[in-house]
Amino acid sequence: MDSRVCRLVCPGSVIKIQRSLIQEATVKAVNVDRCSVSVEWCDGSIVKGKDIYIDDVITINPELLEEIPAADVKENLPLQESITVQKQTRRTTVSKIPVPRGVAAVKTNISAPEQKTPAVRGRTRMSVFAEPQCSLQENEMRVDPGTSTQTRNNSSVPAGRTRTNRLSCAPEASLPNVNGNTEDHLPAATVSPVRRRTNTVKAKEKIKNKREEKRARTSENKTKRAQEFDSSCPNWEYARMIKEFRETLNYQPMSITDPTEEHRICVCVRKRPLNKQELLRKECDVITIPSKCVLLMHEPKQKVDLTKYLDTQAFRFDFSFDEFSSNEMVYRFTARPLVETIFEGGKATCFAYGQTGSGKTHTMGGDFSGRAQNASKGIYAFASQDVFLLLNQPKYRNQNLEVYVTFFEIYNGKLFDLLNKKAKLQVLEDGKQQVQVVGLQEKKVSCAEDVIRMIEMGSACRTSGQSFANTCSSRSHACFQILLCRRGKQLGKFSFVDLAGNERGADTSSADRQTRMEGAEINKSLLALKECIRALGQNKSHTPFRESKLTQVLRDSFIGANSRTCMIAMISPGMSSCDYTLNTLRYADRVKELSPHNGGGETQNQMEIEETGMSGEGSGLPYNLSKDEEEDISPHLFNYREAMTQISELDEKIVEQLREMRQRTVTELDCLLGITEQPDYDLETFVSRTKYFLEEGSRSFLSVKETFDALVAAMQLEEQASKQMSQQRP
Ligand code: ADP
Ligand code: MG
Repeated sequence: MDSRVCRLVCPGSVIKIQRSLIQEATVKAVNVDRCSVSVEWCDGSIVKGKDIYIDDVITINPELLEEIPAADVKENLPLQESITVQKQTRRTTVSKIPVPRGVAAVKTNISAPEQKTPAVRGRTRMSVFAEPQCSLQENEMRVDPGTSTQTRNNSSVPAGRTRTNRLSCAPEASLPNVNGNTEDHLPAATVSPVRRRTNTVKAKEKIKNKREEKRARTSENKTKRAQEFDSSCPNWEYARMIKEFRETLNYQPMSITDPTEEHRICVCVRKRPLNKQELLRKECDVITIPSKCVLLMHEPKQKVDLTKYLDTQAFRFDFSFDEFSSNEMVYRFTARPLVETIFEGGKATCFAYGQTGSGKTHTMGGDFSGRAQNASKGIYAFASQDVFLLLNQPKYRNQNLEVYVTFFEIYNGKLFDLLNKKAKLQVLEDGKQQVQVVGLQEKKVSCAEDVIRMIEMGSACRTSGQSFANTCSSRSHACFQILLCRRGKQLGKFSFVDLAGNERGADTSSADRQTRMEGAEINKSLLALKECIRALGQNKSHTPFRESKLTQVLRDSFIGANSRTCMIAMISPGMSSCDYTLNTLRYADRVKELSPHNGGGETQNQMEIEETGMSGEGSGLPYNLSKDEEEDISPHLFNYREAMTQISELDEKIVEQLREMRQRTVTELDCLLGITEQPDYDLETFVSRTKYFLEEGSRSFLSVKETFDALVAAMQLEEQASKQMSQQRP
């Protein structure tokens, strides 16, 4: 029998025993001759008992061995074993969390003063460990020697850890050993090293071996996995992390047969596949779409010590389309449920929002094969086909309905007709805030093929004269509309908007004024659009549509009980697009936030904006800013935006004034000259009319001059603010 155990297990000790489960039992006797102990435990109200060999006791209660003084154990164990022991003892002391009931393996009812000595010895042994433990031990050393062990143990033994008998059960030192000596006086050398390698040590070795085997396997797997990744790929470590992350997911992809849903505002996201250039650059795909509504964005990050890690953010939308989704699939769940709205006298809009190159035109206008676009495979065409399908249904067939289409572009706050050689169009607003686009061609169409021809014509016009398709189209919003009319009166309208690339809004720091103006206009219109959709979501009577030409033109689609909107946020999955992709997702998320489908109501943030009067017209701010955006505004940015707004307003005003002046001058001059051509013209009439004409003309000139001066001043202010902002940038 391992004589040391006699110091640790004595009648009254509580030890763990193995039955069907590990449970506690009280030692009733130590049978030195039989190398066993007799234990008892309660099974309900029945007291049961049995004898257990000491070796088995140690196997189940290995912590008993740790209580053997360092001299006994350390010398005879391999280095690794001592480390384990150290660790365990260290852990025991560091934590101050009280031990939960039932965890302590061995309890004694030995009186406190007797426990003092070994407790101090235990601490001394630990002084070999790192600094923090030393100081803790010193604290412990300061404990009043008269303090009971029970008290001290309660405050120093960690939760979930075995309370060490050695710290609390010293008096067993006086228990006689097999030789009749007290163990405390027994020299370590007298215990045979062979006998010390008990079952417990073997069990520990087994565990250790297993652990080492596992470590080797993990390291081997890691190397294997690393080899699977092309190390020439600049971000293969992130790619590997993403792959591993994906392997843990339970994918529930969307299916074309899933039921469609009715939303007043529907916000979706579509991920395109990595394109050729991205594949060539070996970019990693940072977007995962595990199910029909969820999108995960894995943002690559690095800690200060250069450790790479992923910051994965989850977004929820009405639908999330992965890279395998076709245009048909996207159409089915986004625009299609809105088609019938226009037959019921309503307005529908569908926006494609995102960074340039993320797939807006591909989705709306039709997919590309090389440079040619297949206009029959985009949302414009699919919706037109459905409009004609519905039109031929018995319900609508005899209602004298006619279909017209328009296609125009909004570039830098100005409208151009894509079905009329990009003719510039005027936007007028009457007293009832009815907006009219003067001169916009409305082309009558009788079948889906007619519509496809119009789409082709407009798309070609949009990109004509450009060295490559995205240079200019990425800076303009394209709007394709299907109008449903009865006897010349509009019944319903479906507008599809392929928005300017959202990254263009950041062009405001360009050295070239034209680019800056375009950037500011895009920024303004995208912010205004968000606000208008939010206003629609809240059923507000007031929409801040006047903030931009885009929202002004689409005003009637944002009001009325029968208006429905859908926004498809397009995202590029490559790692280099991370920042813009996050911006896109946040924008879309903000639009969705207020959707009734999502619980509706105003967010705290929105309410704050309303209270501070920042929302809506007349707020004094050039744009409607959300609270968080507003806080970031520097005085230069504020001046800059103000100047930009003034420029576009004054620009429009001066053009209008010149137009009026031309009109009036030509008419008046024609009239004056007409008088002089009369054989008996009245000189007095001629003189008085000419006088009036000159005075009026001077007044008009002065008025135009005033606008002109204001425009020049605004341009100077804009230039100055732009420079100051550039200087401020790091
Ligand atoms: P945007 O209009 O947003 O600037 P485009 O629609 O022009 O972007 O798309 C850029 C490129 O990516 C095009 O060559 C297009 O064919 C391709 N692309 C976009 N979306 C997809 C998609 N879902 N599947 C395949 N290719 C796509
Ligand atoms: Mg495009």
